[in-house]
Amino acid sequence: MTMTSIKDQIKKLVELQAIDIEIYHLKTDLCDKPDEIEALRENFEAKKARLKQLEDQLKVILVKQKEYEVDLKSKEDTIVKADGQLSQLKTNKEYQAKLLEIENIKADKSLIEEKILLGFDTIDAARKAIETEKTVVSNYEKEFQLKKKEIDDIMAVSSDQLKVKESQRARIAPEVRPDILSRYDRILQHKEGLAIVPVKNRSCGGCFMHLTEQLINQIKMHDEFITCDVCARILYLEDDL
Ligand SMILES: [Zn+2]
Repeated sequence: MTMTSIKDQIKKLVELQAIDIEIYHLKTDLCDKPDEIEALRENFEAKKARLKQLEDQLKVILVKQKEYEVDLKSKEDTIVKADGQLSQLKTNKEYQAKLLEIENIKADKSLIEEKILLGFDTIDAARKAIETEKTVVSNYEKEFQLKKKEIDDIMAVSSDQLKVKESQRARIAPEVRPDILSRYDRILQHKEGLAIVPVKNRSCGGCFMHLTEQLINQIKMHDEFITCDVCARILYLEDDL
């Protein structure tokens, strides 16, 4: 490589930076996207779990309802049997006792009937809730598949762009002096993909810290690389290149 001035090297770095900031954003994006899909998937799983819970609740209610029905049948049988025994009773005392027994069973029976009626309402409500949740799940599944496809597509495009940018970088990078490039790369890694920044309104274009007149003059001299005291990024003057 021929001898190159600081100014030429800065020009190359600015060119490289334009590519590197895109690479940084593309990589950040590609890194975040799988989490977005994962968050959507978790949401979907939560909705499916809610549906499962409602279905399980309904099963419990149906079992209980079945128990009430069996119980009701048994009370009815007992009443029929007791009614049949009435004619065989000899004394009035026995007769009255049996009547009372029958009344008590009838009272129990009517309590069970109330529970069964309430059970029908509960079952109806549970079935409606399940239908609603099924719609929620199926709508969300469509939305999830759509969004996932969208994100997958964006990722495919980003991956492609990243390859382009990386090959552009590989073409320009060798034009920068190796020691300067490695210094630039170090800053790039630690400073959110931004290693060289223009001075804007007498401030650092990276961290916006105000720069002294002396520092700006030093940049103009192009004797050495001047970095921001606060964020350590390399500084340059746009008008100067
Ligand atoms: Zn700075």
